[in-house]
Amino acid sequence: MDTKMDLSEILLWIDLIKKEKTRPDLNELKMMLYFLEDYKQVKEFYNQFGEYKNRLPFKFLAHSLIHFLEDYEDCVELKKHILSKTKRNYNSLFIHQILLCKSQEEAMNIIAEAKQYDTELGEIWASRYDSIWRVKNNQKIWKEGIEHDQAELFPEMYEEFCEMKVKYFERIPLEQLKQNILKEQTNEVDNRKVGKVSVFPRSVYIKEFAKRVSKGICQLCDEKAPFVDKQGNPFLEVHHIKYLSQKGTDTIDNVVALCPNCHRKIHLLELDEDFKKIKKKALRNMEF
Ligand SMILES: [Zn+2]
Ligand SMILES: [Zn+2]
Repeated sequence: MDTKMDLSEILLWIDLIKKEKTRPDLNELKMMLYFLEDYKQVKEFYNQFGEYKNRLPFKFLAHSLIHFLEDYEDCVELKKHILSKTKRNYNSLFIHQILLCKSQEEAMNIIAEAKQYDTELGEIWASRYDSIWRVKNNQKIWKEGIEHDQAELFPEMYEEFCEMKVKYFERIPLEQLKQNILKEQTNEVDNRKVGKVSVFPRSVYIKEFAKRVSKGICQLCDEKAPFVDKQGNPFLEVHHIKYLSQKGTDTIDNVVALCPNCHRKIHLLELDEDFKKIKKKALRNMEF
């Protein structure tokens, strides 16, 4: 897969399907889950659905999401939710709970509980408590399955998302987009002052801002974007002046939109004069 979705795109996707009141598709959900990088992101992903959680397919909850829960309480909660909705026989729920529980006694209790739901687990599971490594291994196997079976669905799915995204952003004036981003940036600084580290995943908004403010002109060579994308927008790439990997910030004063050539050049040559030029442009972007 050459493109991937980051957390901010995934959260936006959830908002958009909520707005359009469409039922989330199983394959799409699996794809999103595949892109999440850690348990914190899994939680943000799941919480973003809010009331919409009720519309998530059981198959997704019981055969995909469950493997990614690494917190015992979260697992119990999801299990309860699923069992209250369906009579189907879901080994995976009880097994996952055993892997996360801390003692053999608890494991035995879970096996007994499973029986009440006509689920025979077998005594072997009694010794498999407290094995996060098995959880991690199951995640790995699940992800490999995605690469095999679903990766080819992704480009089409991503294109659909891009169309939804374009329509959504069309309705937001540039000034409002900027204000929204600035508000989140300030919240973040305030949070940090009181010791809270909460980063609002906003790269999708930052990218949109940088592209729009550039008006289709590369901010290094000042030439028009070389082509338009499938949605008819000038193709430019968003570059972080101080790299995110070097603690650069995802803020509008740290990004510019570049043509693919210049983007390559910047990364390969890292010329001081180029750096100065785009830094100036980024500051000017703030005033557009
Ligand atoms: Zn250029
Ligand atoms: Zn870059």
